[in-house]
Amino acid sequence: MQEKGHISIHTENIFPIIKKFLYSDNEIFLRELVSNAVDATQKIKRLSSLGEAKGELGDLKVEVAVDKDAKTITIKDAGIGMTADEIKKYINQVAFSGATEFMEKFREAKDANEIIGKFGLGFYSAFMVADLVEIDTLSYKEDTAPARWTCDGSTEFEITEGSRTTRGTTITLHIAEDAAEFLDDYKIEGILNKYCKFLPVPIQFGTRTVSDPDGEDEQGETKYKDVTVDNIINNTHPIWTKAPGDLEDEDYLSFYRELYPMSDDPLFWIHLNVDYPFNLTGVLYFPKVKNELELQRNKIRLFSRQVFITDEVKDIVPEFLMLLHGVIDSPDIPLNVSRSFLQADSNVKKINTYITKKVADKLAEIFRNDRKDFEAKWSDISLFVKYGMITEDKFYEKAKDFALLSSTDGNFYTIEEYKTKVNITQTDKNGNVVILYSNDKGKQDAYIQSALKKGYDVLIFDSPIDNHFISQLEQKLEKTQIKRVDADIISKLIEKEEQLELAISEEQSATVKQVFEKAISNGTMNVEVIASQEEEVPVTVTQDEFTRRMKEMAKTSGGGMFGFYGSMPDNYKVSVNGNSKLIQRILGTTETEQETLARQAFDLALLSQGMLSGEALTAFVNRSVKMMSDN
Ligand code: ADP
Repeated sequence: MQEKGHISIHTENIFPIIKKFLYSDNEIFLRELVSNAVDATQKIKRLSSLGEAKGELGDLKVEVAVDKDAKTITIKDAGIGMTADEIKKYINQVAFSGATEFMEKFREAKDANEIIGKFGLGFYSAFMVADLVEIDTLSYKEDTAPARWTCDGSTEFEITEGSRTTRGTTITLHIAEDAAEFLDDYKIEGILNKYCKFLPVPIQFGTRTVSDPDGEDEQGETKYKDVTVDNIINNTHPIWTKAPGDLEDEDYLSFYRELYPMSDDPLFWIHLNVDYPFNLTGVLYFPKVKNELELQRNKIRLFSRQVFITDEVKDIVPEFLMLLHGVIDSPDIPLNVSRSFLQADSNVKKINTYITKKVADKLAEIFRNDRKDFEAKWSDISLFVKYGMITEDKFYEKAKDFALLSSTDGNFYTIEEYKTKVNITQTDKNGNVVILYSNDKGKQDAYIQSALKKGYDVLIFDSPIDNHFISQLEQKLEKTQIKRVDADIISKLIEKEEQLELAISEEQSATVKQVFEKAISNGTMNVEVIASQEEEVPVTVTQDEFTRRMKEMAKTSGGGMFGFYGSMPDNYKVSVNGNSKLIQRILGTTETEQETLARQAFDLALLSQGMLSGEALTAFVNRSVKMMSDN
């Protein structure tokens, strides 16, 4: 039997194009061929269990081998095999509608996957690295002859009688000169480890030597001997294929260590398992975050029926969950995914929604079952939660019930609990609840103390994401304002109905304002004389909440919509307490002494805000010493 024919793709030179165009991704040829071998193996198992395939199944492993001398790579399976007719049907009729369409499409295609996926070129990816490909196969069907197909990358192929005596298929790639790098064992094992690590059928790549116990010596010590065993590169039953009920914590932890050998253990994990309206399994881990700079994206690996596809899961996993680690497996995502496919696919959107919901549910469950544990983990997970609440409305709706606010009093409150706590004390004269926070307990201590003295509470918002989170909370919560504790003097931050009277006349007040303006002589400091308690500090320097927050956001988000604020000068308010004893002293003294006192009081305010430095600080120290010795 010998037959020659034409591969029906109606163009003479398609392989050079495939080869050239796909060059950058050429290692995926191995993924495609091993996947085909695994599929054929799974099929024979199924047929056998249905009683449709007779005879012994035998050893069903897939063997990959490199022969440096012969310059070949072989992929050998014991799957269903093919008859000569099946080769013609499945291999020769390349599954795309025509050369014209292909030629048009490939120009726009952004990556190899897009072409392979769209045109069913899985098997033909072999020509990315080979200049001659042989298929030697024997079908499981009774009374069929082995068949051999060879093709040199032109559109000519040849079918002759094959040599396989056992069921299955051997693909032999004669590696092209310019792909000689693939004749390296390490290279091939590396590619197998990347794509085939969790395939459901054992994949053997050569052999390796292990030490096995071999009886005892005279001293009763165990003896060892070297044994050569198959080098099986994959774990055929990774945990995401098992039922959560059959797994212990230790199983999840050791799988995590297998995936990320150098990492700390994760905080907790979520086992994903859904079969309607799409198929998806997986395990997502919440990593321990030491600091935000260490966060790594692209740690989630995407699989399709245990074949690794990619670790760029941008469009499948919501942005805020990209910081999680783990695996997702969905047969509804084709092997050859491409960016444009993912963006357009409705299953992908559903997967996205599902994962968001699962993560929110898991967090809610930990919160409900063990609040103390949740509070302990909060500093590690707050970044995900806040990021999610800012970027995904659906997540906000769920997370608002377990997101925690941490107070300077050391307690954690949910948003609702906190509103109840401060509702009466911190409602201003306009009926707005004013929530106070500090981003630096040390620096803002003076302000925190004056707030606490009034019976108010102060929260801690000290991570870079907090400015955005605060803005989000203000939008979501009705009649609520959130202000940093140093954004104004406390009686202005939360304005109450009853206002203190100023103990000095309007004229005196104007004089005081003038004295301070002269002493400070700085255009960005706006002096205002206000009425506070007599025992309050004489001068407070504050920066308006809105401007400050916008400027900070401009800094962290690198311009964008906040860019305009980034370029604004800093503007501060200098609140002079007209009721302070110092003011009486200033009003009753000489012009020179007025200036010294005003400057001293202003410097003290700067000092308590951590804003006094350099020459101004030196001048302040010298002035203080002089004031002390003058008496
Ligand atoms: P796909 O796998 O997407 O169908 P391929 O081009 O990779 O496209 O393969 C085409 C067909 O060739 C397969 O569907 C299968 O029927 C057959 N085939 C390929 N490799 C094998 C194999 N190792 N054993 C049996 N059949 C195979």
